[in-house]
Amino acid sequence: MSEPKITICSGGYGETPHDRTKLISWWEQDIVDSSSVLVVGAGAIGNETLKNLALLGVGKIFICDMDTISISNLSRTVLFGADDVGKEKASLAAERVKQMSNNKNCKVDYFVGDITTGLGHGVFRRFDIVLGCLDNMLTRVNVNRRCCLLQKPLLDAGIWELGLSLSVHHYPYSSCLQCGMDSKDIENERRIRFACDNFKKRDIHERHAPTTLVSTAIVGALQVQEAIKALHVLNKDKLEKDGKNLDISVQYGRKYYYQGMNHLFEQMAIPSRDTCDVHNSFEEVVESPLSASMRLSDALNSLKNLLGYECIIDTYPESWFVIKTKCVSCHQWIDTNKARGDLYQEDLYCEECSKNKLDVSGYTPESDNIDVFGRDDMPTNLMNYTLKELGIPPLHIITVRAKCDDSIVKFVELTGDLSEVLPNTFGG
Ligand SMILES: [Zn+2]
Ligand SMILES: [Zn+2]
Repeated sequence: MSEPKITICSGGYGETPHDRTKLISWWEQDIVDSSSVLVVGAGAIGNETLKNLALLGVGKIFICDMDTISISNLSRTVLFGADDVGKEKASLAAERVKQMSNNKNCKVDYFVGDITTGLGHGVFRRFDIVLGCLDNMLTRVNVNRRCCLLQKPLLDAGIWELGLSLSVHHYPYSSCLQCGMDSKDIENERRIRFACDNFKKRDIHERHAPTTLVSTAIVGALQVQEAIKALHVLNKDKLEKDGKNLDISVQYGRKYYYQGMNHLFEQMAIPSRDTCDVHNSFEEVVESPLSASMRLSDALNSLKNLLGYECIIDTYPESWFVIKTKCVSCHQWIDTNKARGDLYQEDLYCEECSKNKLDVSGYTPESDNIDVFGRDDMPTNLMNYTLKELGIPPLHIITVRAKCDDSIVKFVELTGDLSEVLPNTFGG
């Protein structure tokens, strides 16, 4: 067989999938190839966003979603087909993205579940940028808070009928997503999602956004285009060291709107709000061999070895552990012993009353909670619970205080969970 001829026209030897994008003056495929992107939501927008990331060759992708594929998804989900109904969105999206990727070294991980209680901050710490492809405000608020804590750029997409929006933030260099939100709206959403005092409702009537593939395709494209620009800007110093001049910028603290009905494209600045209550970042994160599957007693010993003093773990305000609750019906105390994230409304009835549930909507149950672990006055049986059972998710960054002086604080990552949470992207 003769050698293939090298030609200068398309289809020639040595062609790569990225030849056209590389013609863009500022485009560095190496940056795209080595970038890591966290995608929250693998529904309609997430499908478009993930398809774009895969075709562009982004190197590391993490996909989170708690849902399974339903028939009504199929008109807007390029990664899923009719045979996939009932399967988990995140795991299947991960498989399809890997198949579709134009980067042979592409690594993909995923998480199936509620990221607000099930996924640690360490995931946010490792990825370069976060893309929000969500349909509910409370998860948006949670994702935004973690992006602030770890100073990660957040590009948040939204859709409504033929309209779409993209919010672009990078705290502390700009406002955060929550700066542009109405605190009353957040409170209303919290009321819908949680019954009374922060106990989850099992059956939430989700408000599905009326939309089509067109809106999701446009916003997924805008989001990824902005992400590619942002990834280049994040690597500006490296590019300049290599003698390359980057003449692009990303304007953070802005919201872009497109209305397909009348082709109106608008943008507005979202100023930073002084009263925004999520403007905090970790100063320094200490990696540790700790993992969420460790018992509290072992974790406290391990922290003592690591830091050289006796420690307590403070989970306020992220999670707390409910020791006892008063039955919402007969008001007798019941042993609960569950983390806030594992509690549902039905856990608020004693065994007798659960047989004949009264409507107690609006009633705030009395409960006995704990959010500091390791103090001498803590119930001793909690020492045998794993950190996960106490409400601390894998690869989390926990607030550790010195037992003798709780103003001494360290932020310690449960790095021992790395190979479990991010086996492909960062665990190897
Ligand atoms: Zn803010
Ligand atoms: Zn009862």
